[in-house]
Amino acid sequence: MGDFDVIIVGAGPAGLSAGIYAIRAGLECVILEKGVPGGQVLTSPLIENYPGFAEVAGMKLMETMAEHAKRYVEIREGEEVLRVRSGERFELSTTSGKYTSKAIIIATGSSHRKLGVPGEEGMTGKGVSYCATCDGFFYKGKEVVVVGGGNTALTDALYLISIGCGVTIIHRRDGFRADRHLQESVKQHKIPVMFDTVVDEIVEGKQVSGIRIRNLKTGAVKTKPVDGVFVAVGELPSSQLAAELGLEMDPGGFITVDRAFRTNVPFVYAAGDVSGGIRQIVAAVHGGAAAALSCFEDLMNPYYRRT
Ligand code: NAP
Repeated sequence: MGDFDVIIVGAGPAGLSAGIYAIRAGLECVILEKGVPGGQVLTSPLIENYPGFAEVAGMKLMETMAEHAKRYVEIREGEEVLRVRSGERFELSTTSGKYTSKAIIIATGSSHRKLGVPGEEGMTGKGVSYCATCDGFFYKGKEVVVVGGGNTALTDALYLISIGCGVTIIHRRDGFRADRHLQESVKQHKIPVMFDTVVDEIVEGKQVSGIRIRNLKTGAVKTKPVDGVFVAVGELPSSQLAAELGLEMDPGGFITVDRAFRTNVPFVYAAGDVSGGIRQIVAAVHGGAAAALSCFEDLMNPYYRRT
């Protein structure tokens, strides 16, 4: 399917940014994306902290970014990288064929962490959701809970209330880790919060009708009737390829990179959510650009690097 200087795996903010910088640096490059460009940002209802866009839907922002990237770099959509082998050149096997390259930038992002309680798997798509923007519309006028205490949980709760759902936030601790301004918004919108509470079970049936919850301080257990459960309890890095390449990872599975986004394996770089850090779009965009420029330096050995 082709031989390239660098293959970028993943077309989220990090991969798109890496593609723009790699091509502009003169590298032959392609982006392989197992789904559609945009990554997890596609599911964010509203982004308010990406400079240049005071308020923008995640989908709109990523469409804009992908359009920009496509001016430079080819994005092969629906093509998943299944295996990768290092050698004189990297060899990648995808759902469509085989590729070789001198370098790889891993920008595979992360996926939703699950609660891991009975009923969650069976009721996914029947009332359990990991994406408020995708599924929230179906719960207009209905009662839902959002589980989690981070930025995603609070953003989702605010989105769901804005489209007319009855929302309660359930969080396992007595304080949120979400940004202060989101906490203020939740207070302003008078969204009820159940702190120190965990979901033990999602009642199975044709559709979700309730959840079993437990107060961790009092031990009190009860069934709360709800129509929907939006799970927002964090992310797991998509680092399978990293494992195949023998990359160093932290205990959470996020790829370890240096300041230039180089991994411990020469000519392999990682950027965006899969490399941990603050997991913000702006950070992913920076990581992608830096990884591409490091790749350029390593492959081309430009005059300012020669000793
Ligand atoms: P996160 O910040 O890791 O928060 C996950 C939340 O889920 C935490 O409150 C955690 O509780 C809770 N949790 C984890 N495992 C749980 C379990 N098994 N049962 C119940 N609760 C559990 O994840 P996130 O909110 O998805 O955010 C991911 C990254 O994206 C962050 O870096 C975030 O800043 C970023 N993000 C930013 C924005 C924005 O800037 N507007 C929006 C969305 C996401 P504890 O607090 O007790 O650990």
